[in-house]
Parts: sequence; C-alpha cells; structure tokens
Amino acid sequence: MKFGGTSVGDVAAFERVIYVVSSQIDRRPVVVVSAMTKVTDALLAAFEVAKKGDFAEAFTSLDPHFDRHTTVADHFITGDGPRPFDAELDLARGEISDLLIRVARRSLPLSMLRDAIVSYGEQLSSRLLAEVLRSRGIAARQIDSRRLIVTDDEFGAAQPMIDETNELVRVELAPLIDAGEVPLMGGFIAANRAGETTTLGRGGSDYSAAIVAAALGASELQIWTDVTGVMTCDPRICSSARTIPVLSYEEAAELAYFGAKVLHPKTIKPAVDSQIPVRVCNTFEPNEIGTMVVADSAETPNKIKSIAHKKNITILRISSARMLGSYGFMSAVFQVFERFRTVIDVISTSEVSIALTLDNTTELDKIVTELERLGDVEVDPGYAVICVVGEGLRASTGLASKIFSTIDDVNIALVSHGASSVNLTFVIREEVAADVIRDLHREFF
Ligand code: ASP
Ligand code: MG
Repeated sequence: MKFGGTSVGDVAAFERVIYVVSSQIDRRPVVVVSAMTKVTDALLAAFEVAKKGDFAEAFTSLDPHFDRHTTVADHFITGDGPRPFDAELDLARGEISDLLIRVARRSLPLSMLRDAIVSYGEQLSSRLLAEVLRSRGIAARQIDSRRLIVTDDEFGAAQPMIDETNELVRVELAPLIDAGEVPLMGGFIAANRAGETTTLGRGGSDYSAAIVAAALGASELQIWTDVTGVMTCDPRICSSARTIPVLSYEEAAELAYFGAKVLHPKTIKPAVDSQIPVRVCNTFEPNEIGTMVVADSAETPNKIKSIAHKKNITILRISSARMLGSYGFMSAVFQVFERFRTVIDVISTSEVSIALTLDNTTELDKIVTELERLGDVEVDPGYAVICVVGEGLRASTGLASKIFSTIDDVNIALVSHGASSVNLTFVIREEVAADVIRDLHREFF
C-alpha cells in the first residue's frame, strides 16, 4: 500500500491511513509512504536558497514543515515519557542544518547533497507514520529504504539494481511479514552501493512501491492518492464522468500524459511485469474500489475506456519540397527539438510536410528560427489534443468512423492513429474541446 503526500498531509489524513491499513491488516500489507505534502518542494527550495549562500534563511524556511510533523505527533502519540519521534526530528534538523551549510560552502558535490537533503521528507514521514500506527495498535515497523533499494550513482534520478534490491527486500521484509508485523518504508529514497543517499526522481514513491511489490510477489499494489482512480473523462467537463474499473497497462500508459493524476507508466512497470494488479484508490473515499491496472485487459462493451484531453496546444507545421524522397529530414527536424529540450506530443506526416504539437512553448521562437533553415514553418496556437483510449480500438472495426461521425461538424486539424493500437488522437480548436468531449462521452458511455 503506497500513500502519497496528500494522504499524509495532516492529522485528518493520518487518521484515514490508520483506517485503510487496519481494515486490510489481514492481507498482510507492506506500507510505502511519500513525504508529507509540500515537504519535498520545501526541502528542494531550501537547497536552492542555501546554494545562493543564505544558509540561515534556507534552514528557517523549513520550520513550518517540521512543525507540521510535530502537530501530527502531538495528536496521536499522547502519554508522558519521551517520544522517539521527537528525538528523531531533532537529529534530522541537526543533520539538515549541517547539509545546508555544506551546500552553501560547496563542501560536497551538490547533486549528492541535494538528494541527502530531500530524503528527509520520506525519512520523517515514514518514522512518523510508523509511530502513529503503533499508537493505534498496528505492529508497524519503520525500515530504512536506503538499506533495501540499491541504485546506481545517478543522483536525482537513480536507477535501481533490481536483483540486489529484490534480494534485500525479501531477506529483510519477509520475516517481518511472517511475524505479523507491518513493514513501513519511505518511498522515493534509496542508496547507491557506497551507501550514499539517492532518490528515484520526483513522484518516485510509486516506483519504490512497485519495486517492493514485485520483489515480494504481492497479490496487489495499492496506490492511495486523492482521486478515485482514472475517470472516463474530466468530471469538470462532463458530470457523468465515472471511474474506470479496469485498465490495461497499455491504456494506462497512453493516458499518463494527460494528467499527473494517472500513474506514470515507468513507475508501475515492475509490478505490471510481475503480473501484479495495480489499484489506484482514493484515501478520501476508501470504500470505493478505484481503478485497477492489469497487464492485459479485455475489450469492454463500450469499446473505449477514456476520453482524455489537454488544452493550450500549439501546432507547428514544417513543409519543404526537400523532404520528398529524401532521408534524414525527420532527423534534422527532431534534432532541433532535442537541442531545445522540447517535448513533441502528436506527430503526423505527409509527403512534403510534418505537423506536430507542443504544449511547452518557452523555446518556440528559437525553435522556429532553426526550423526555417529546413523549410517553411507555420505556428498555430490555441488547440486541444483529444485522446480516445481503449482496447476496443485494437479489436473492432468501424470505431474510428463512429468517433468521427459523432463529431462530424468539427474541423479536425491533425489525426494520429496506429502508433499504439489502443489510442486514437486528434487535435481540434480549443474552443470546441468541451463540446466534443461531451458528445463523445454521451455516445460511448
Ligand atoms: N516526495 C517525492 C516527491 O514529491 C516522492 C513522491 O511523492 O512520490 O516527488
Ligand atoms: Mg507525491
């Protein structure tokens, strides 16, 4: 069971986690927890301030966040006598202070210091949650993830060494589970072979949880967050949107681009590869079943599972007679985007032109200047990408025709289909996006 930052944001959130864990205690859970919400951002901001030399300011900026931990501890861990968490928090403050001074003085490599500092979010949340659960009679035991998850030296985006990690997770956690304890670890943090703290990249707690689930052969990986799974479309656009009960991994991956609320395909891959179903659940509505992501999911009667969209999209068209019958032209175009570190989303090509979409236009002017060496460039802002996803697109005929005839009064600027057999993507004017989504939703759901 992985709990995200908002699921451990405050006293009420911890209360809900206690409920969720105790109601499934018979399933012998392992708990993976993110930092309390906003703490990772605060630690990274403190690092940046210290980097500019202002160590004192960096350190005091963290006070309100330390206090939030204490507020939770005060609420749950009552009774006299010293609280182990207080000692832990004092130690952490001292260590963070020391690390921030090192940042200001550049006395160790910055990327290493950054991971060391940011790791305290999960170090503290996992300590705190373990004590809170224990205060309610759950036999939770905090285990330092840095002793279990072994990574390479890529600070900030470390890759786990899977065999070593699997072995350690099994050796350390299996006996605890067998003894009826609930192992509890911070997500996101790990260590390299030299024992230096590393992190798996932002949002990496899901990844940690999937790695642990795979290592243990869990019956299910539950990702507890603040939405009830993945929806058939954006509920703000269409009030009849509902939670999708089952998605295939491929469908979930296609939807990932359309919102941080959906799982990142990379992070759950270890679980999916081991055939472990991944369930996205809502801590705020713990009795809803949420969305289950499985390796393969059959086509459903509606054929499609979700209509996702993204607004604020710019279309770029590059046309050049040179493209006809020549090789290397695409590569030249893509290199421009690579140089300016700009992600391309939808692509469509004809004999003498390429159309593509961008959602980040910060480098647009420079990109256009470079592309103009290759051909004529047209920039067209104000579009929306609509993405229809479903295993039914693979399996049935006539579906594209049904989709387009539902919206036959709409001008379609770009279409992409076939790269993935479960995705049909098209681009339309932003102003008509909401109506298009509603029409399609009515037709298919
Ligand atoms: N706390 C980390 C972050 O905010 C990891 C996570 O939440 O998954 O990115
Ligand atoms: Mg998070």
